[in-house]
Amino acid sequence: MNKYHILVNKDNPISMDYYNKEKLIKVKNVDNEVVLIDKKTYRYYLKLKKELKKSNIIIAISSAFRTIEHQEELYNEFLLKYGSDLTQKIVALPKTSEHHTGLAIDIVLKSMNYDIDYNTIFENEGEYLKIYKILPKYGFILRYPKNKEQITKYNYEPWHIRFVGKKLARKLFDNNITLEEYYQNELLK
Ligand SMILES: [Zn+2]
Repeated sequence: MNKYHILVNKDNPISMDYYNKEKLIKVKNVDNEVVLIDKKTYRYYLKLKKELKKSNIIIAISSAFRTIEHQEELYNEFLLKYGSDLTQKIVALPKTSEHHTGLAIDIVLKSMNYDIDYNTIFENEGEYLKIYKILPKYGFILRYPKNKEQITKYNYEPWHIRFVGKKLARKLFDNNITLEEYYQNELLK
């Protein structure tokens, strides 16, 4: 299987084999912290960023690869803060986060002060909508789209993009389907 096509979600935890074989590089995120990311994913991210800049949309990486241990800490933090109902909706259990693949990026916008504010982001998502349209050109998909919450089992997340390669990204975009639906629908493969 093409490693860029991997499906990681609440029902499909990442295999330790895949996790251990990942080839990640170090880059800086928006807070100038070192983050790890898949090499090819980063290369295409830079191309995406460059094109968006021409339209005065400035993006940066908030988060990319996360270790299983980090996800565990994050999950426990949210659990203490928000209780289990909300936590289950917004944070993945360790091993089930797509951020373990190194192929997922949370992007933030300069126009939103490089912040993901859950209270205001949905009122002001114009730029995210523009980004969404050109994602397939660079091999990315919006992983948790609007109106697909029942299928992805995640709330709409305009900031979370996932590298799958150009061919698959175009196919998913043109058919308006998620990665889950792609794997359910043999005819599309
Ligand atoms: Zn994310």
